[in-house]
Amino acid sequence: MTTNNIWTIQKLLSWVTEYLNNKGIDSPRLSAEILLSCVLGLKRIELYTQFEKIVSEEQLGRLHNLVERAGRHEPIAYLAGKTEFYSLEIEVSADCLIPRPETELLVERAIEFLRVRSGKQFICDLCTGSGCIAAAIAKNYPDCQIIATDICDAALSVADRNIEKHQLGERIKLLHGDLFDPIVPYLDVEKFDLIVCNPPYVSAAEFEKLDKNVKDYEPRLALFAGDEGLDIYRRIVEKAGQFLKPDAKLMLEIGCEQGPAVKQLLEMVGCFSEITIEKDNQGNDRIVIAKKS
Ligand code: GLN
Repeated sequence: MTTNNIWTIQKLLSWVTEYLNNKGIDSPRLSAEILLSCVLGLKRIELYTQFEKIVSEEQLGRLHNLVERAGRHEPIAYLAGKTEFYSLEIEVSADCLIPRPETELLVERAIEFLRVRSGKQFICDLCTGSGCIAAAIAKNYPDCQIIATDICDAALSVADRNIEKHQLGERIKLLHGDLFDPIVPYLDVEKFDLIVCNPPYVSAAEFEKLDKNVKDYEPRLALFAGDEGLDIYRRIVEKAGQFLKPDAKLMLEIGCEQGPAVKQLLEMVGCFSEITIEKDNQGNDRIVIAKKS
């Protein structure tokens, strides 16, 4: 990017889009818009209303750095420090998984279930990461108390900022620890109406095949779950029953080939009924829902 001639927003958008396209980056135009709006402190729509605006040398320098990193497949969400999930702006850092659109299905089913049940609901979100699932549920079903846990302290700091940003501190409690471990001391109070979780579920074989932007940049701890990718499900399923009220539900995100295996795990523990597997918008199996019987 030469800086010795005049760069307008319009010219930069075309230049960056082409650069990212040549590097094989997905959605190059959208990515260019996100990076440029982040450097300029503008909303994406404002780029278009200020097409002729001249970008300063200092801003060009910052943009150059981000675009170069994006060209090496560093995720755009990490570069921008945020992404959108269930219409909420969610802060992210390399300490947490970037919220995926597929995970919105889990949130949607959770909210539907809570609305039918109605009244104050007690919810548990395991492996909360950025806190996106807990935040989206609490925003859309206000009459709830959520306990969200994660084994990674650094991820919990990100979750904490997201909860603060969306003013959900009174409804979401973050606890540090492995799955249900930190919850045990709170359980004499009440059991959960709903447990949700998007755990790590990538198998050893799949891990090797992940895109560079995922494999090289997102936390392995948030992705990898043993040879078959089922390690965390086994541990959740084994314990979940004792934390759920009768008729409460467990909702798990799954990898597209894991439906039958996770269903079988749930059947084996013997305390769940109505176990269903549901597909996402792409037609891939994406969530498993089970009712505590
Ligand atoms: N769906 C994510 C991916 O494909 C994996 C998320 C997870 O392990 N929870 O990269």
